[in-house]
Amino acid sequence: MLGWARFSAARPNAGHRAVAELEARGLASGPITQNVDRLHHAAGSRDVIELHGALAEVRCLDCDLREARDRVQVRLEADNATLLAHAPELAPDGDAELDATRALLEGFVVPRCLACGGTLKPDVVFFGENVRRELVDTAYARVAAADALLVIGSSLAVFSGHRFVRRAHELGKPVAIVSLGPTRGDELASVRVEARAGELLPWLVTALG
Ligand SMILES: [Zn+2]
Repeated sequence: MLGWARFSAARPNAGHRAVAELEARGLASGPITQNVDRLHHAAGSRDVIELHGALAEVRCLDCDLREARDRVQVRLEADNATLLAHAPELAPDGDAELDATRALLEGFVVPRCLACGGTLKPDVVFFGENVRRELVDTAYARVAAADALLVIGSSLAVFSGHRFVRRAHELGKPVAIVSLGPTRGDELASVRVEARAGELLPWLVTALG
């Protein structure tokens, strides 16, 4: 609740815009992303596969109804005005250190589903949860239809993204990786570029004409 204003105010960078441009020019498919910030959409990407969901949406665990986080946020803030008024400063990553204000949390009102009163959860994949099977299958099909796989700004540390590198490699498709630091997919990569996506990808768009 406290970090949402900052999180939702984030804007896409040059890397996001370059990815959208590659798609618009027909040079790349829409991205398969592990990000939950919707910034690819904001940059103009059209056919985005969000493997881990998006924080902009909230889902009811009981009836599966989806609601925009912005609307849930209105209820959250209205029901927890005292906490909001005494909110601690946010850390640089958007987290709030609440220990000093623990007493305020005792009366915290958790929003419920408007349809069934059920339990709401940000519609993202938490640690220990699995990516939805149909999303994985759609992403596999996208890899199978591609000439090559371009990995951008991921260490590929978690399996949800790494499996697509393995699949591309199995299918004999070249894999190119743009990242800072080593990644779990390096051994399978045909090309590896040590660079920031926001710097390299605009160059790539220009180079491809
Ligand atoms: Zn519900």
